[in-house]
Amino acid sequence: MTTVAAYAAPAAKAPLERTTIERREVGEHDVLIDIRFAGICHSDIHQAREGWGDAIFPMVPGHEIAGVVSEVGPGVTAFRVGDRVGVGCMVDSCRECENCRAGREQYCTGGGMVGTYNALGKDGEPTYGGYSQKIVVDENYVVRIPDGLPLDVAAPLLCAGITTYSPLKRWGAGPGKKVAVLGMGGLGHMGVKIAHALGAEVTVLSQSLRKKDDGLKLGADHYRATSDPKTFEELRGSFDLILSTVSAPLDFDAYLSLLRTEGTLANVGAPEEPVSLNLFSVLGGGKTLAGSMIGGIAETQEMLDFCAEHGIGAEIELIDAAGINEAYERVLNSDVRYRFVIDTATI
Ligand SMILES: [Zn+2]
Ligand SMILES: [Zn+2]
Repeated sequence: MTTVAAYAAPAAKAPLERTTIERREVGEHDVLIDIRFAGICHSDIHQAREGWGDAIFPMVPGHEIAGVVSEVGPGVTAFRVGDRVGVGCMVDSCRECENCRAGREQYCTGGGMVGTYNALGKDGEPTYGGYSQKIVVDENYVVRIPDGLPLDVAAPLLCAGITTYSPLKRWGAGPGKKVAVLGMGGLGHMGVKIAHALGAEVTVLSQSLRKKDDGLKLGADHYRATSDPKTFEELRGSFDLILSTVSAPLDFDAYLSLLRTEGTLANVGAPEEPVSLNLFSVLGGGKTLAGSMIGGIAETQEMLDFCAEHGIGAEIELIDAAGINEAYERVLNSDVRYRFVIDTATI
């Protein structure tokens, strides 16, 4: 076991504080990673506050991890000491079910994926995430960060990047397609950059025009306020794909009306309460209301390679670990442009 400095929530809703955790010995197929940067994802806050149900405490959140390999097990073939690597939302899965075999480990049906934190590993021990200085992960759940991508702006790609890349690819964002990105936060700003790089015509749909300049700078072609009823009249039947990154309850009927025939409204955010809609909103026009959750390991590598090729990183605000609790408050107030990233050397 190795003792590692970390920031943890000792109990639900308690402020995070500095502590130490134990990391397992580097096993046959394990990689020891010196974490350099860890992004703060909104789901870290949900889980540290038990907004999504019972959680495991103490909790070390963090599933947007970028670092450098400092040791490898004897059976490791994909990585060497010194490699720049990332770890996202999962650190294991059954590896045998249909989904794992197809590279959709996030939808593992053989017991489910093992979350990077707030989960139990196959050894029965709780997993601890990226708000720490080192992590030990099986090489099959580690991805390579291409040289062209600085580690700090790469970290948020491990969740926010893949969460938006996967549905944009799956539903065909590309040249000749009109894509709307709903919400201009941590996920949304990545959705804009990636959809633009894929060649789509991109519209941001945001509550107000407050972040319009940013949206256009990041690659959006249009930016419309959803608080303005004219937006819904004028954009009716416009989009091939709407990517919703918001977790507030939505008027699904109104957003579905913005789709073209056989268009898709894909959700990557989820409100805590069940939603309602009039099914005629999907029957008319043969529309699809869909969902997507992060992406598989191979697709995460593909996303990182794509982002490096297109010079895409997250827009970040780098903070010291002592600022984590304040950052949480600011995320809850949508007061970040667009992702906090912890410099883990300050833990
Ligand atoms: Zn996340
Ligand atoms: Zn599986």
